[in-house]
Amino acid sequence: MIPSVLPTYTRAPLSFVKGEGSWLIEADGRRFLDLGAGIAVNALGHAHPALVQALNEQAGKLWHVSNLYNIPQQQALADKLVENTFADTVFFTNSGTESCELAVKMARKYWYDKGLPDKTDIITFEGSFHGRSSAGIAAAGSEKMTKGFGPMLPGFIHLPWDDKDALEAAITDTVGAILIEPVQGEGGIRPLPDANLKALRALCDANGILLILDEVQCGMGRTGKLFAHEWAGISPDIMMVAKGIGGGFPLGAVLATEDAASGMTAGTHGSTYGGNPLACAVGAAVMDIVADADFLDGVRARAGLMRQKLEGLVAAHPDVFDCVRGSGLMLGLKCKVTNMDVVNAGYDNLVITVPAADNVIRLLPPLNLSEEEIDEALARLDKAAQSLT
Ligand SMILES: *Cc1c(COP(=O)(O)O)cnc(C)c1O
Repeated sequence: MIPSVLPTYTRAPLSFVKGEGSWLIEADGRRFLDLGAGIAVNALGHAHPALVQALNEQAGKLWHVSNLYNIPQQQALADKLVENTFADTVFFTNSGTESCELAVKMARKYWYDKGLPDKTDIITFEGSFHGRSSAGIAAAGSEKMTKGFGPMLPGFIHLPWDDKDALEAAITDTVGAILIEPVQGEGGIRPLPDANLKALRALCDANGILLILDEVQCGMGRTGKLFAHEWAGISPDIMMVAKGIGGGFPLGAVLATEDAASGMTAGTHGSTYGGNPLACAVGAAVMDIVADADFLDGVRARAGLMRQKLEGLVAAHPDVFDCVRGSGLMLGLKCKVTNMDVVNAGYDNLVITVPAADNVIRLLPPLNLSEEEIDEALARLDKAAQSLT
């Protein structure tokens, strides 16, 4: 008999009932160190006082109003995002995949309005993940996500992750945009080198193509900059955001330049919940903390420490781990044993990690975890690795 919850997930036998900072408490009382953070969602850990306060205050005033009216909390968050990024304008969604939907629509409408309605193709890359909506799976294109769900939304050209010649050959008059994650998350924590992202920007500029970045997982301070593309010193035309931006409250956004967004006039897009007062009140509290230069300095310092210790872990367990990769606190350990065995050994040793493609385990801890917690994380990962040899 089918379970009452549609069985699309293989779930670990764990039920968490409470979160405190970097810790998750299981129904039986065990305390797990959380290096998954809800897959980079709980950017400030669990039950951060500033976020709890923002949510509680707003909950007592107004939960929801339609986007038929001005929403001051939404306006305030949009202003903060515009002030701190390349963007001139923001549309709020509830998830990453909804941000993908709008990014695709925005790019196509842009060229339509410029009198080039055939410029509908969007180049994407192998190993990408853009969410589970029809546009998201068509964009990523992997068999794992698309098989059986056809017909796919047309207009995506899938290229190898790092093949300059294939990319240049794919640029034709029908290509309107390139969509890429600066650091692939689900694909196995694969950072695009800064030089490649710069080259992509240059290629887009030279050919009049829009650059869409998917920073759903790598954005919001995860790499030690507010957004990952800042490391390369470039900016996109359109950017998808979600996960960390709500700190655990469902919230996403599409950020864009005035030019790229120029086709999205009244009536061209909408969302019932997108930008609702509760989500935006929490999002503003997250931004106030994460966009702060000192906070981001701290993320980079903690990331450096964690990476150094992980290199030591790999050296100590050469039969279990192959290498460390990633950017900031978006870290991956490529495994020599089956990655899921390492994740399960982590559960046995009360540390949460997340599997990814390419036999990688992901470490996406709260951005504000302490140095003591980094030490504790490494001690637990060390025990987990020992149990596998
Ligand atoms: C998680 C993720 C998405 C999809 O986000 P949802 O909120 O699950 O729809 C899209 N892109 C990237 C890079 C992601 O990591």
